[in-house]
Amino acid sequence: MPNTILMGAQWGDEGKGKVIDVLTSQADVIVRYQGGSNAGHTVIAEGKKYVLHLIPSGILHPGKQCVIGNGVVMDPFDLLKEIDMLRGYGIEPDGRLFISDRTHMVMQWHRALDKADEAHRSHDKKIGTTGRGIGPAYSAKMGRSGFRVGDLLRPDFLDRVSEMCVSTNLRLSKWGAELLDIDTLLKDYAKLADILKPYITDTVVFINAADRAGKSILLEGAQGTMLDIDFGTYPFVTSSNPTAGGACTGSGLSPRRIDRVVGVIKCYTTRVGSGPFPTELADATGEHLRQKGGEFGATTGRPRRCGWYDAVVARYSAMVNGVDFWAMTKLDVLDEQPTLKICVAYRRDDGHIYETFPADLSALERCTPVYEEMPGWMTDTSKTTRYEELPLKARAYVERLVALSGAARLGILSVGPARETTLRLGI
Ligand code: GDP
Repeated sequence: MPNTILMGAQWGDEGKGKVIDVLTSQADVIVRYQGGSNAGHTVIAEGKKYVLHLIPSGILHPGKQCVIGNGVVMDPFDLLKEIDMLRGYGIEPDGRLFISDRTHMVMQWHRALDKADEAHRSHDKKIGTTGRGIGPAYSAKMGRSGFRVGDLLRPDFLDRVSEMCVSTNLRLSKWGAELLDIDTLLKDYAKLADILKPYITDTVVFINAADRAGKSILLEGAQGTMLDIDFGTYPFVTSSNPTAGGACTGSGLSPRRIDRVVGVIKCYTTRVGSGPFPTELADATGEHLRQKGGEFGATTGRPRRCGWYDAVVARYSAMVNGVDFWAMTKLDVLDEQPTLKICVAYRRDDGHIYETFPADLSALERCTPVYEEMPGWMTDTSKTTRYEELPLKARAYVERLVALSGAARLGILSVGPARETTLRLGI
C-alpha cells in the first residue's frame, strides 16, 4: 500500500477507527500523529468492541508495528491502562509498540489545570474540553516547559516533576482548586521509567528506515479538520493539527514521502462540545440521527450534536488536506429519512455566499445554510456487500455528496459498524 495519511474531515468521530482498521491490513507501520487520550477510536472486530485512545488500532492486527508519534501528547498512566486492556484481550504490544522519545507527556498538573481553567470560564466561553490535560500539555510544549517521553530516562526527571508540582499548587490554590499530592505523584512517576523504557524509540529514524525498506506507512489522525488549531472553528478547537500537514510534523516523515490522503467523512454531520455548527438539527430528526448513529462520545459518553451533511465543510477539508479519496461512513444511519437535506453553501444576511468555511465566527453567526433536497431511499442498507446493490436513491445521494465536496473520489463507503460492512471502491 502507498504511504497514506488518514484524517477526519469534519469535527471528529467520523468513524476513522473502522476505516483505519480496514486499511491497516495493507500497511506495515501505523503511526498516530497528534492528539491525546481525549480522542477515541472504536473498532468492532470479530464481535468484540475495542476502544483505543492512544495506541493505534493497528495493534489489533498481529504483526503490525505501531508508533505513537512525536505530535501526540501522551498521558503515560492512560497508556498503561490501555496496554493492560489489550493484554486482557490476549493482545501483546511488546515488540510492536514504539513511542517517540520526542512525544510530550500529559502530566498530572496538566489535568488539574485543564479542569480548573474550564471551571473558571464563563458559560458561553467554555471550550468543552474533556479535562484530560491535552490543552495545557500542548501549551507547555509550545511554551518550552513540556516533559517529553525521553526525559523519563534523565537523572533530573523527578527533580523537575517536583518543581512543577510546587509551582502548579501555587496556581491551583489561587483558584481554590484541589491541590496535587506531590509525594504520591513522585512515587507514581518514579515507577514509569522502567515500565516504559522498552517502548521508547527514536521513531523518526524508525519510521524513515521502514520507509526506505519499502514498508508501507499509515499515518492516522485523531479528531478532525474543523477541530484543527489552525484551520478549525477557533477557539472551539483542539490544541493540535489533525489535518494532513500535522501528519508530517507529528511523525517526522517528509511530505515528499506521502503518496495519498484519505479523508474520512460521515454522510451527515456531528460535533461534540461547544462551537459553531451551521447544519445542526435541534429537532426529532437530529435526535433520530443521534440514537440510530450511536452518537455519544467514545471517551466521555457525551451526546453529540447532529445535523445534515455540510458540503461547505467537506469542500474546505478537501482543500486543506488535499484529500485524494473519501471514505464515507454511516450511510445506513440515514436509511429511515424520507427526505435528505445537503448544505451546499452558507448565505450571510447581506446576501454574501460562502462556499468554503470562513475564519470569522461572527460572520458565520449571520449565515444560514443553503440546502438542496434529495429523496431518501427508505431501505435497509446495512447488509449491502457491493456498491452496485445499494438502492439507486442511496447511490444518487452519495454521488451528489462526492460531486459537491471537492475533487476527491469515493474510495470507501461504510454501511455499518462492523469490518464486513465496508464497501471498497478501488482503494
Ligand atoms: P472516530 O473517532 O472517527 O474513530 O469515530 P468513533 O469511533 O468515535 O465513532 C464511530 C462510531 O461509529 C463507532 O461506534 C463505530 O463502530 C461506528 N461506525 C463506524 N462506521 C459506521 C457505519 O458505517 N455505520 C454505523 N451505523 N456505525 C458506524
